[in-house]
Amino acid sequence: MHHFEYKQGELYCENLPLDQLAQQVGTPCYVYSYATLHHHFKVFDEAFRDVPHLTCFSVKASSNIAILKLFGSLGGGVDIVSGGELFRARKAGIPGDRIVYSGVGKTCEEIDYALRENILLFNIESPQELEAINERASHLGCKARIALRVNPDVDPRTHPYISTGMKKNKFGIDIEGAITEYRRAKTLSNVEIIGIDCHVGSQLTEISPFVDALRRLRMLMERLEAEGIVVQYLDLGGGLGITYDQEAPPHPREYARAILQELHGLPCTLIFEPGRVIVGNAGVLLTRVLYTKQTPSKNFVIVDAAMNDLIRPSLYGSYHHIQPVRPMGEEAQMVDVVGPICESSDFLARDRGLPPVQAGDCLAVMSAGAYGFSMSSNYNSRPRAAEILVKGERFYTIRERERWEDLIKGEAIPGFV
Ligand SMILES: *Cc1c(COP(=O)(O)O)cnc(C)c1O
Repeated sequence: MHHFEYKQGELYCENLPLDQLAQQVGTPCYVYSYATLHHHFKVFDEAFRDVPHLTCFSVKASSNIAILKLFGSLGGGVDIVSGGELFRARKAGIPGDRIVYSGVGKTCEEIDYALRENILLFNIESPQELEAINERASHLGCKARIALRVNPDVDPRTHPYISTGMKKNKFGIDIEGAITEYRRAKTLSNVEIIGIDCHVGSQLTEISPFVDALRRLRMLMERLEAEGIVVQYLDLGGGLGITYDQEAPPHPREYARAILQELHGLPCTLIFEPGRVIVGNAGVLLTRVLYTKQTPSKNFVIVDAAMNDLIRPSLYGSYHHIQPVRPMGEEAQMVDVVGPICESSDFLARDRGLPPVQAGDCLAVMSAGAYGFSMSSNYNSRPRAAEILVKGERFYTIRERERWEDLIKGEAIPGFV
């Protein structure tokens, strides 16, 4: 469910016509629906209302502080993977006790920052990281609350680049290794074991990998309990998929039912780290057609958004539905929708049936709310797009379009050149 709909032949975000918005703020721009963000967060969070839990939005999916603040105001926390994300979360007013920190390469500086902010939980991904966190906590005279991120070796059956819970992935610690590390953690004086964690991948469209991972974690928890290691928090990560094209992922309530059934009343506080399922379909990328170009083998629609704005099609071959904001005519033509960047991988869609479009038309790249702006770059010295939050018929610029001056911020020319 989302609030991007045609009314009288024109695409709206909530009660605002997107064509009008594009004229006012320019393109390319990311547009998010407040009502959709709010609704998606609530649906996910309330699916677990009967059990103690904390919904920690995955900041890397969509990192704007306005969006983080919204989820914080709904009682949510965040899952971070860097010091920069911690900085954002704190700027958005997320309290430390609602922050969990994942990632295989936490630096000393980042660990210290997180310790000073007294975050709820470090999800530890290697024996050396356990060592490092204990050492930093000792240095700062505090105790770090930790979970070990377990790699349960289940196949999430998703794109290999977004699979994280298989043996061959760099994430987490295998089950036998985790037992060794929990034993060791117990002997360290500046860490407190409070949880167990896993995250098996992203854009999962089936329940079974989640359930398989949970079963393996439960078995591990029993073995740990036998040694007197009891955890209060069970962090099941994120990964629930959305519909980009024809996928039919489970509804959050179905996901919740399967998880809760598997837990049968385990007295743990659950942590979830959803990203895509909350924001993916709550945002679109608006772009304008610059040119159309026919070559002997293809029809190209050249638009003003590019792989630097939305890299998912180039990086993963991902599908994003593309639709004209004011469609004229029905008959679809096969086109490649491409950006201005000097790379052949710079496309938003390939061999796609699109209603006839011409220069100046505005297109909406749908389902761009997750891993869209947050993965954008300045490649080809393109200023990054604006981000707009729509509520009802009003809109708010939550991030200004970058200017050329921003591109050279921090650059310097030494005297000898
Ligand atoms: C990326 C990530 C998430 C969020 O994944 P989604 O598929 O967007 O829900 C959650 N936890 C960790 C550790 C991640 O790396």
